[in-house]
Amino acid sequence: AVVGSLFVVAVFSIIALILIAVEVKNVLLPPGTKYAMVFDAGSSHTALYIYQWPADKENDTGIVSQVEACTVAGPGISSYINNPSKAGASLKVCLDKAMTVIPANQQRETPTYLGATAGMRLLRELNSTKADQVLAEVSKAIQEYPVDFQGARILTGNEEGSFGWITVNYLLETLIKFSFSGKWVHPYGTEVLGALDLGGASTQITFQPSGTIEDNSTKVFFRLYGTNYSIYTHSYLCYGRDQALKMLLASLSKDNITAQQISHPCYPEGYEMNITTAALYDSPCVLATSTPSKTLTFRGTGVSAECRSSIQKLFNFTAYGAGKMRGFSGVYQPLVHGQFFAFSGFYYTFNFLNLTSGQSFSTVNTTIWEFCAKNWKELQASYPQEKEVHLSNYCASAFYILTLLHGGYGFNEQTWSNIHFRQQAGNTDIGWTLGYVLNLSNMIPTEAPEQVTGHWH
Ligand code: AMP
Repeated sequence: AVVGSLFVVAVFSIIALILIAVEVKNVLLPPGTKYAMVFDAGSSHTALYIYQWPADKENDTGIVSQVEACTVAGPGISSYINNPSKAGASLKVCLDKAMTVIPANQQRETPTYLGATAGMRLLRELNSTKADQVLAEVSKAIQEYPVDFQGARILTGNEEGSFGWITVNYLLETLIKFSFSGKWVHPYGTEVLGALDLGGASTQITFQPSGTIEDNSTKVFFRLYGTNYSIYTHSYLCYGRDQALKMLLASLSKDNITAQQISHPCYPEGYEMNITTAALYDSPCVLATSTPSKTLTFRGTGVSAECRSSIQKLFNFTAYGAGKMRGFSGVYQPLVHGQFFAFSGFYYTFNFLNLTSGQSFSTVNTTIWEFCAKNWKELQASYPQEKEVHLSNYCASAFYILTLLHGGYGFNEQTWSNIHFRQQAGNTDIGWTLGYVLNLSNMIPTEAPEQVTGHWH
């Protein structure tokens, strides 16, 4: 009996040891993490996003997350027109940071991309040689690091809109979901979300309309996890926040071409801003026929009604074709449909005004109207932390956003509540970069993942 007991104890000990060994092995050798990096080279600034996901779950959904977002100091790369090598040098701080985030033995296999958006589209329009030089310099800077560099390029407006849409729907798991019963399912009754992106130099609207898309240049087609999507997307160049505010300055100064002092109804009373004509007329969005070189002074008057009407003048609300109500500048747009996420520039301004928690259209209107009537002294006293460039422009930005969403895209008093102003979902920033990585690394399969059948570890 003793021998028998010893034998049982020995067998159990061996089993226990094996289990411990398996456990230790699992602890020492986790499935592994993969990384990818994308530079978002925007018109106003560049940011580096680092993503990670478990290596054994490549094709699952909702598993890619953001580990790091590094903001590059200084302006966007398109501003380095006369000093392209500085554009490359500006990226180094964030690249150094990335080398501390991604383990050394993973760096060489980390795909790294740089995507430039509307700031570079505008520079290419002005001078394509310079735009190429800037792209060459940023590529050179990234190649000095031990990563798998996949190139620097300018995204089309349609790509920018589409990848933003993919990001939103991937993060919100509206495409496919891992159910409690352990199956991949198409979330029943869940409609995909639309994406509204306001950059510095362009703005994108992307959504699945309820009917057909009549203009093929605005149509994109995806097959994702076994489902077909026909998506409407359009990017309005020059209708990003900074270029729109520049168009506003140009328009106000055109009303009084000889004046050096110009009233600005969206700037707060008591605020003054000086700008040279060279700096104002530096973009294809505001090309002037002939401008004498001088300094213009814009004097705030803070008159909401005038601010609204001068911003409305920036839009040509002529609809596309006969009877089509929406889109502007002659661009086709089906009626907005479903829920939307509004991010980047939409979020910054509305967050500042506390308008991101589902306020009604009329509350938004009143809030903006009242904010615009505040004078500069009051504003500075109430928001001592805010930078002058931002604080002085929130009124104009807010009326601009209201006009774009309401007059331009056609959100009305009812559909306004379908717009959700958000910067992040699940600790990941919303923008085109995640969608870009998912697409380029083939992480969204066209067919649904196989059903998980009880396989064991
Ligand atoms: P981005 O998405 O970074 O291209 O920025 C979109 C727009 O928002 C640009 O016009 C920026 O100048 C503006 N912006 C960026 N950060 C802020 C902020 N904290 N407050 C207000 N506007 C901002």
